[in-house]
Amino acid sequence: MIIKIKNIKGVTLPHRKGTSEIPTETLPIPKLVEIPMQQHIGAPCKVLVGKGDYVYVGQVLGDTEKFVSAPIHSSISGTVVQIKDMILHSGVKCESIVIEPDGKQEVLPGITQPDISTKEKFLKAVRNSGLTGLGGAGFPAHVKLDTKERIPEALIVNAVECEPYITCDYRAIIEEGNEIVNGVKLILDKLSIPKAYIAVEDNKPAAFSLLKELAKDDCRIETVMLKTKYPQGAEKMLIYALTGKEVPMNGLPIDIGTVVMNVTSVLALYKYCKTGMPLVSKRITVEGNGVKNRGNYQVVIGTYIKDIFEYCNGDKEKTVKVLCGGPMMGTTAESYEMPVVKQSNAFLFMTPEDLDFMEESACIRCGRCVEACPMGLMPLTMNRYALAKMTEELEKYNIMNCIECGSCSYVCPAKRHLVQSFRVGKDLVRKAKVKNG
Ligand code: SF4
Ligand code: SF4
Repeated sequence: MIIKIKNIKGVTLPHRKGTSEIPTETLPIPKLVEIPMQQHIGAPCKVLVGKGDYVYVGQVLGDTEKFVSAPIHSSISGTVVQIKDMILHSGVKCESIVIEPDGKQEVLPGITQPDISTKEKFLKAVRNSGLTGLGGAGFPAHVKLDTKERIPEALIVNAVECEPYITCDYRAIIEEGNEIVNGVKLILDKLSIPKAYIAVEDNKPAAFSLLKELAKDDCRIETVMLKTKYPQGAEKMLIYALTGKEVPMNGLPIDIGTVVMNVTSVLALYKYCKTGMPLVSKRITVEGNGVKNRGNYQVVIGTYIKDIFEYCNGDKEKTVKVLCGGPMMGTTAESYEMPVVKQSNAFLFMTPEDLDFMEESACIRCGRCVEACPMGLMPLTMNRYALAKMTEELEKYNIMNCIECGSCSYVCPAKRHLVQSFRVGKDLVRKAKVKNG
């Protein structure tokens, strides 16, 4: 595969990466954790433990036989105190398991390096690791890497981290760069992929230099610096920025010979293959003027936002909004009782000074949203149809191709709530499809 660097459409954002030089700190085990049974795209997991059961760190709590799914493991040792229904940030309902820790962090007996001696065994290990895309989408990693008879021409490692505020991937590179490069080598070896490109934006020169140095003895791995542009970290955008190739509508990266993995997914997979410990904790960025101790934290999955907020010296009086993720693609947390899940990468505790409270006004048909849309869509028209709930027109204008990047909202002088209307519009189209068979 030949690299042909292209400029993507989109927007240039302020970096605001104020936590990038703060080393990761480990958050203490909280008093309770809550582990949802849906932390990925695909089928939810079935609960495999009961109230009162003792569970170990790394023990499978939930799984399913469905292919598009990933097992969910316990992040702490302790006792299951409740199994309940919950509603995720996305509005999806699922079961969750509440565990009270015993403070010992007892690891499941028998956890050991998995057998990855063949491609089939490696893919089985990827599934057993519980790994899902950690860049945000949550697609099960074993499904992504199982390209059947098609051997990818290149693995693209996404180290772009293009949203303002978020620095957890950057910290992972600085603190565990060696493991990341070894993870890239492992994936190339196991899946017979001839080439890997690690993509970094030019606002992270230290990460670029480190990865380049660590990978210099392996000619299969190339570290590529891209001009900083949002939303270059979105999978389709990144492929285009690196290769000039477009993933076909409704297609997958493998259709044009690539597989894309987030840099921290590579890290998590490498660690699993070395230790057998599945994905039970996450590095997250904590930011915003609502907290005093901003930084990057390693937290066990299932930790409530309220515990992170408290540990980071949060001020509830000042905090008016909690964002799960970045300011562009993040979603608002409905409550402080929401837990950290596999895809969590940041919590932004926003005060009025962090937010732009300008009221929405009528569209002035300036066309800036069309210019900014990296997917070549017509945001102003889609907004009109979404508000009018006109699903056929929304489909005709390819609303399902919207990656919800927020570039259109960002440039809109009328502060139209475009992305919010597209989320609702996409939901309407999905429901109409189900209704019409
Ligand atoms: S940027 Fe805003 S005001 Fe301009 S055309 Fe788009 S929706 Fe209308
Ligand atoms: S229409 Fe969708 S893809 Fe295009 S800029 Fe807006 S949010 Fe991004």
